[in-house]
Amino acid sequence: MFKAVMQPIREVLLFLFLAIFSKATGMKSCYNSRATVPSDGSSYCLSWRLAVEANNVRAWRTVPTQCLRYVESYMIDGQYDRDVELIVEQILSYVNQIALSDNGMDAWILDVDDTCISNVFYYKGKRYGCDPYDPSGFRAWALKGGCPGIPAVVGMFSTLVNGGFKVILVTGRDEETFGQITRDNLHNQGFYGYDRLIMRTFRTATDKGKSAVVYKSEIRKQLMEEGYTLWGNVGDQWSDLQGECPGNRTFKLPNPMYFVP
Ligand SMILES: [Mg+2]
Repeated sequence: MFKAVMQPIREVLLFLFLAIFSKATGMKSCYNSRATVPSDGSSYCLSWRLAVEANNVRAWRTVPTQCLRYVESYMIDGQYDRDVELIVEQILSYVNQIALSDNGMDAWILDVDDTCISNVFYYKGKRYGCDPYDPSGFRAWALKGGCPGIPAVVGMFSTLVNGGFKVILVTGRDEETFGQITRDNLHNQGFYGYDRLIMRTFRTATDKGKSAVVYKSEIRKQLMEEGYTLWGNVGDQWSDLQGECPGNRTFKLPNPMYFVP
């Protein structure tokens, strides 16, 4: 009888002891672990950015206003640079495994804007993409020719060129407006020795109104018909990497500031 009464009392005391002990030591039950994930705006913005990078959110026009500070911090406080550096490490470790042919047609495709050279200072004035795309504003910025090179990509570019690859730069910028200034900007930032810079041309109507996927696919297809082996393709937009002849491997650089369809 005595034993039957004492057993539940002992269990209650043990439970109370454990509850007090875990509170005193800060121990958390396994079922509490969700509480360690912050439910503030930065948590939402991290989810949003991840979904954007994974191409689960598409055709978005502006960065959500509540993510302005988050995207700003991501772009300028070091995480963006670290993310690019890690991707470049992956690219270079893949490059080390490639046995070059002796025909001189081993090629890499690189996008230009926010792949080789950065527009982050322009987008600072556009609230890091919270403001909608402004074609004339971007035109004026690009015509200054002052886009800084993205450091890790400048190094990667040199490694590719010095390693015997033909580096082909493919951009949606048009030749008539941006041809010379883009070549100058690239050169000033250390991008020289590339095989060619391919731009849209509006002299003929053929490139006008073409989506980036169609325009870039056609160029890659043409390059392959010329005999190039496209070992890799690097861009900050999914539209750089989708469509026909994407390349043996594609590498997506981060860009949470804008989406090019
Ligand atoms: Mg780009």
